Amino acid sequence: MELLRLGLDGQLTVDPADMEVASLDFGMLGKIEPLAVLHPSSAQDVARVVKAAYGSAHGFTVSARGHGHSINGQAQTGKGVVVQMSGSRAVPPRVVVGERYVDVWGGELWIDVLKSTLEHGLAPKSWTDYLYLSVGGTLSNAGISGQAFNHGPQINNVHELDVVTGKGELLTCSEEKNSELFYAVLGGLGQFGIITRARIALEPAPQRVRWIRVLYSNFMAFTGDQEYLISLHDRPASQKFDYVEGFVIVDEGLINNWRSSFFSPRNPVKISSLGSNGSILYCLEITKNYDESTADTVDQRLNFIPASVFITDLPYLDFLDRVHKAELKLRTKGLWEVPHPWLNLFVPKSRIGDFDKGVFKGILGNKTSGPILVYPMNKNKLIR
Ligand SMILES: Cc1cc2nc3c(=O)[nH]c(=O)nc-3n(C[C@H](O)[C@H](O)[C@H](O)COP(=O)(O)OP(=O)(O)OC[C@H]3O[C@@H](n4cnc5c(N)ncnc54)[C@H](O)[C@@H]3O)c2cc1C
Repeated sequence: MELLRLGLDGQLTVDPADMEVASLDFGMLGKIEPLAVLHPSSAQDVARVVKAAYGSAHGFTVSARGHGHSINGQAQTGKGVVVQMSGSRAVPPRVVVGERYVDVWGGELWIDVLKSTLEHGLAPKSWTDYLYLSVGGTLSNAGISGQAFNHGPQINNVHELDVVTGKGELLTCSEEKNSELFYAVLGGLGQFGIITRARIALEPAPQRVRWIRVLYSNFMAFTGDQEYLISLHDRPASQKFDYVEGFVIVDEGLINNWRSSFFSPRNPVKISSLGSNGSILYCLEITKNYDESTADTVDQRLNFIPASVFITDLPYLDFLDRVHKAELKLRTKGLWEVPHPWLNLFVPKSRIGDFDKGVFKGILGNKTSGPILVYPMNKNKLIR
């Protein structure tokens, strides 16, 4: 009842369809129904609800939900209100070309941030592999992809935030202003406040991407090359790649299916034909951004299997939005809305070989067809 008296501009609802959405996430590992769902129309709406929760005699919780692509209920609450940040765009993106930043609503999806900045020839610097995630959702984690070795994760590319604190105050924070709040909220798993606006650093957007994949049967050669490539992060742009990532291939289905639509059917791969005797292969992915036809070729110092170079060339938007193509394919097969017991781990360089032996070759063997990604990270890019 106290919530109904708040004078919200947005919509507070118990509509079954809204409740169903807010009860689940991408992981589909557990269902928790909230008491109500808020579709905010402004940052003030978010502040009013959090303030009411803080001062409530009965006590209820508030959970921000972006696009609900968490794995294990991180955006859910059974004892309160889910604030549905995505889908209710309170303010459209505002690109400031001269200072190269964009101000966006916390629930904005990265795909929409990209589309709005590309209209000005600009784009954010650091990405996740998949763009149908919200700004507030990835900034509450870290936001890591193949650009992080160079620019740091997404949380390192934010100038300023508007945050609704646990007491329901709406504060602006940055490295200089309310810095404790700024650093707590970035990577704070939604526990230190709700991001209602983020100011994100931009760079000139390249027009095209040369995307290269090479295969390895030797894990140490694979990670050795990943480490070599990310060690070039301080070199001029012409001497390094723009994106370095990789994945483990435990069966042929993976390389010819998941994340591979852009390469097939031109480059179908038979693992056995690459001399790996049917065992695990490792795929290094690198890209070079370019504007004219000046893309580099594969660096000759790498130690991949010589017959295994796959190259494709795409507009920048298509490269960044590549996983969506795989999503649409999996949806047609009924394989997207299924449980995803995914796990993310940081493994130090000193133990990565043991991890390969124990997990990739040991526990997993050839018993999975899900994606297994290996992102090389420069530790010094993770710390501010
Ligand atoms: C297909 C897929 C691919 C992915 N690829 C990558 C990847 O390449 N790199 C990577 O780093 N991650 C990746 N992720 C993980 C993803 O970044 C996180 O799960 C992220 O939290 C999802 O964003 P969301 O908007 O769906 O957040 P939600 O699941 O809605 O929320 C996530 C967390 O953030 C909090 N939160 C949400 N909005 C706000 C806000 N405005 N203010 C404060 N807290 C908030 C929630 O309370 C919750 O704790 C991927 C996930 C999927 C499903």
